[in-house]
Amino acid sequence: MPDVFADLVGQDEAVVELRRAAAAAAAVLRAGAADRAPAPRTADPAESADADASGGVDPSAGMTHAWIFTGPPGSGRSVAARAFAAALQCVHGTGCGECPGCRTTMGGTHADVRLVVPEGLSIGVGEMRALVLRAASTPSGGRWQVVVIEDADRLTEAAGNALLKAIEEPPPRTVFLLCAPSTHPDDISVTIRSRCRVVPLRQPPADAVAEVLARRDGIAPDVAQWAAAAAQGHVGRARRLARDPEARKRREAVLAVPRRLTGVGAAFDAASALIEAAEAEAEASVTDADTTERAALETALGAGGTGRGASGAIRGAAGQLKELEKRQKSRATRAQRDALDRALVDLAGFYRDALTMALRAPVAPVHTDTAALAGAGAQKWDAEGSLRRLEAVLACRAAIEANVKPRIAVEAMMLALWKG
Ligand SMILES: [Zn+2]
Repeated sequence: MPDVFADLVGQDEAVVELRRAAAAAAAVLRAGAADRAPAPRTADPAESADADASGGVDPSAGMTHAWIFTGPPGSGRSVAARAFAAALQCVHGTGCGECPGCRTTMGGTHADVRLVVPEGLSIGVGEMRALVLRAASTPSGGRWQVVVIEDADRLTEAAGNALLKAIEEPPPRTVFLLCAPSTHPDDISVTIRSRCRVVPLRQPPADAVAEVLARRDGIAPDVAQWAAAAAQGHVGRARRLARDPEARKRREAVLAVPRRLTGVGAAFDAASALIEAAEAEAEASVTDADTTERAALETALGAGGTGRGASGAIRGAAGQLKELEKRQKSRATRAQRDALDRALVDLAGFYRDALTMALRAPVAPVHTDTAALAGAGAQKWDAEGSLRRLEAVLACRAAIEANVKPRIAVEAMMLALWKG
């Protein structure tokens, strides 16, 4: 395995900062071992700024207990957080990729690294309290307890408060790594934000994405180049497009939408097709997990179903199954929204291409394979009409994010795209 930061595409500045922090963290551990004292940090948040300087390391480069990784979807927030977690557990340096600390962290089996990946629409308070409690224990490997929270913007308010308490009075060897789209108060509370150091990631350039697809995944360079451009800087999406024919088919269906909008009826048909495609994609992605979970729970509950206390156990079992169904429904809703959002991003790319062509802007198209179609649109609609259509797609995304029913938002968008 190469260096743990190798897969963090096009984020050189962030990597430098994280390596420096990992080195400072290692110095803190060495100082602690030399003194035979507890960790040199105090738990008093008022002193946390000074405490960063412990171990004689440059405070601006130092280690801190709470971090937020921000950036657009696909820029590598969780990749960066995991790589940094590995660098903190690295026993040789700052993320060599070869030692047991690096390998187990990257493989997801390190005893002192906990990863929270919300499957539903939000992370609840119960989950967060349990996590905070476990994170306060002494690291079994003698280094750091690391908690990675993907999609920290999906914390419920109560869960956010539970986390805030832990961040305000951090156990000396605990590090929280949060991932969120931005530090906007909608994404992360101002109080949590004020306790964290922010690592901003940028949308990686298409060339850098293509390079990593070719190098790491062995994808042919021309396919990698096409997929990187089509995915608009989203590394995971680019890989899926390059490898998965179904993903390519779905994308083609989305990009056929502008051609199909020939009237009101066609607009409603296109809306239905888009919604149903998102539902089908989401179902394919969660069905296996649902079935496995339900079977596992039923097996666990099936043991000892008779005798004393059985009726109580049955009541408890019904409650647990209901809880599981609730969680699975929430996950399915999330998967549908994510699939629909990917489709809308593809569609926005098409109208963005039309707009740049109408303006004769010297930039490469997002979708090289529908560039001719976008060019025809640019002629017909001009810059203004292209911009209005692009805005209709973005308004649809915003409406769905604000909990407008997806079908209603998509129908309104299709009508706007047809009328211009
Ligand atoms: Zn290592």
